[in-house]
Amino acid sequence: MKGISELEQTLSFCREKLEQHSFRITPQRVAIFFCLLQSKDHPSAEMVHHRVKKEFSNISFDTVNRTLHCLAEKGLLRVVESGPGPRRFDAQLKKHYHFRCCNCKKIIDFDCAEYDSIKIPEHIARKFKVFRQDIVLEGLCSECALKKRE
Ligand SMILES: [Zn+2]
Ligand SMILES: [Zn+2]
Repeated sequence: MKGISELEQTLSFCREKLEQHSFRITPQRVAIFFCLLQSKDHPSAEMVHHRVKKEFSNISFDTVNRTLHCLAEKGLLRVVESGPGPRRFDAQLKKHYHFRCCNCKKIIDFDCAEYDSIKIPEHIARKFKVFRQDIVLEGLCSECALKKRE
């Protein structure tokens, strides 16, 4: 698209999605959603608050936290199964998997065609209605593994 920067595209995507899900459009809400779309590190509410505060110095943690949970409820964000500690959020809704570093708590996205084709066990599928299947790998990221070796 000529003349429209990537940032502007992301911004209009934010507004469009919020409208579609009947959110009242406020600059703060747009900023929170926008922040998530720009983040690759699966931030917690606190991390988002910290980032959005640079633009909206008066925004409260509560507003950020509440907005993130509303967005997740409407399916615009995903809450990442991140184990103990604060909830982490992900705006990448396309199927992907996570590697979680136990040391620095980094969450890294990866794709895997083999995982995509893993079937739900027969005895589970018979008993339950499964909405989501998630695979999370845990360990040490390359930086932490390197530090451990030193
Ligand atoms: Zn690490
Ligand atoms: Zn992710």
